[in-house]
Amino acid sequence: MTYQFRKYSAISILQKQFMLWSRTMPTFGMNQDIFISQSRKAPLTTLSNIHKTSSFTEFLPPDPLIPSPDVSKIAPEFLLRQARVLDDGFYSYIRPEKREEYKFILHSPSALQDLGLLPNEASTEFFQDIISGKKHLDKPYPYAQAYAGFQFGTWAGQLGDGRVINLFEATNPQTEKRYEIQIKGGGLTPFSRFADGKAVLRSSIREFLGSEAANALGIPTSRALAITALPKTIARREKFESCAIVTRMAESWVRLGTFDLARRQNRGKNLRLLADFVIDKVFGGQDKLVNPQEAVIISGDENEATRNSKYVRLYREIVRRNAFMLARCQTYGLLNGVLNTDNTSVLGLSIDYGPFAFMDTFDPSYTPNHDDGHLRYSYRNIYDSMWWNLVKLGEDLGLLLGAGTHLDDPNFQDKEGYLNEEYAQSVQEQAVSVISAAEKEYKDVYQDTINKGFQKRLGLLTLKLTDESEIFNPLLEIMAEGGLDFNQTFRSLGDISLFSEEDLNESDILDELKEFYPSKKGAFVLISVEDSSKKLLEWLHTYRRRLKEEGNTDDSLRKKHMDLVNPKFILRNWILQEVIDRMEKNTDDKILSDVLHMALNPFQESWGRNPVDEMRFTGEVPSSLRDGVCTCSS
Ligand code: AMP
Ligand code: MG
Repeated sequence: MTYQFRKYSAISILQKQFMLWSRTMPTFGMNQDIFISQSRKAPLTTLSNIHKTSSFTEFLPPDPLIPSPDVSKIAPEFLLRQARVLDDGFYSYIRPEKREEYKFILHSPSALQDLGLLPNEASTEFFQDIISGKKHLDKPYPYAQAYAGFQFGTWAGQLGDGRVINLFEATNPQTEKRYEIQIKGGGLTPFSRFADGKAVLRSSIREFLGSEAANALGIPTSRALAITALPKTIARREKFESCAIVTRMAESWVRLGTFDLARRQNRGKNLRLLADFVIDKVFGGQDKLVNPQEAVIISGDENEATRNSKYVRLYREIVRRNAFMLARCQTYGLLNGVLNTDNTSVLGLSIDYGPFAFMDTFDPSYTPNHDDGHLRYSYRNIYDSMWWNLVKLGEDLGLLLGAGTHLDDPNFQDKEGYLNEEYAQSVQEQAVSVISAAEKEYKDVYQDTINKGFQKRLGLLTLKLTDESEIFNPLLEIMAEGGLDFNQTFRSLGDISLFSEEDLNESDILDELKEFYPSKKGAFVLISVEDSSKKLLEWLHTYRRRLKEEGNTDDSLRKKHMDLVNPKFILRNWILQEVIDRMEKNTDDKILSDVLHMALNPFQESWGRNPVDEMRFTGEVPSSLRDGVCTCSS
């Protein structure tokens, strides 16, 4: 049994799809803009002074109905926000909807710092007005992105920012990192479909804390800058709930779903435009993409031109980044229960925190999404599901992947823009070959990353080829069978003395191992605690031998290393729920800032703010609240 990945072949799907679109995909030439980085070293700044741009709207075409901010300003509200499908254009200029009352709640000091803003900036009126959508700038003008997607393996058509409004990009003057700032819950857009453009306080708290917690664990993720309550804005979900705005930031919000849309717009006219935009403006030029010589991915079928093509390198880069991000999530048990193509970032960031969770009990079939009946996004299946998404991207990009140097040949397409028959077969073969090679690369990056993650979590100084099969997987199997807590087990293993005596003192250790087993009253158990702890003891012998082999026999030093990567605090579902309950009852705003502080510093032993809650939140999960799931309603 292996929990880390299963074999999945995508090529048959690709071949079928390819037949369809190789006749319908035209190609168009476009300008190659060179990315100009803002090379200004400067002190921390204010939101009003920070360098602002909007490359998405500058380089990609708009909704033809609202071609400019000026039109957006004078267009009647009903037209601005009327649902529509775009056959051209990637966004619509739109300002946030006005709300009756705004109540700034909290900012993330960590996100503020990463943006390059002064520490007291969040208390200024300008900051609070802008990040809540109460006021917006004229230049750059706000907009909503269109995208499409496959949800749970089914084509869902055009989606888009249904309640998100992008404000501008801001460049940190010190790091030169550029973030696109957006508000979630900002009102109706042309992409809201049947929904209301609102985000409830409950889901906003989850996203605010969730993304900052993931970042603190070294998971590539979008960030949350701030949260603002909208006390007089009410949304109807399972019950009536009050709303909020989360201000999010990411280096780009382009998703695989953005390519899903481009491929289907205007018979593919915008696809190359989007690919070039992502290469030049999002990644900062083709030099920033994976080097064609790096890592052997060549299956032997690609020709040189294909191998070196910037589109192949773009695809590989996106595959590698998502493999890395997913492996980091799996290392810490973070699951996104709606990891559809519209929720998969081209930058390999964890985005759109809806029904997500940091797993409590290690259960390979756990999915945090109550509605994920087929367990598509469970711990066990998410590796396959992510690859499925990446195959869809490969299909979207297929023509560009397979074209090699022919893309600009006058004969490559006929006068209507259709791919010339004589190229069809080689384009198809080359693209299929690229995608199958990328599948191996996906697996390699994933495995390498997760193995390094578990190596560190177990305090091993080296990584051996056999560690996966002899150390990591056997531990995961024991954890699954015995119902052990995923994150607590790693932290507790650091506390066990393995070298204080000549050999393991079995009876002492068996006593200590009792602490590893959460009391799950009434829960279905596969194996008794006694039998499971004997297996764990057996495993400890193997682990001890492995440590000894690399001279890693200082228990306290090993604990020190392990505590740096095994969080004492994990943002569990039940903790989120308690924060939400206390905030909703309006009895306690401080709880949000206390929990944020723990989430931002998860490896600390204590936080010195609220000892009672700190003890509870790092102690045993109350048995009735273990392994909770969420609905998609948000
Ligand atoms: P999700 O699965 O949460 O990423 O959302 C899927 C799609 O539904 C995206 O296009 C969202 O913008 C849209 N959406 C979700 N909730 C709402 C809402 N309350 N109002 C408008 N659009 C929404
Ligand atoms: Mg989404």
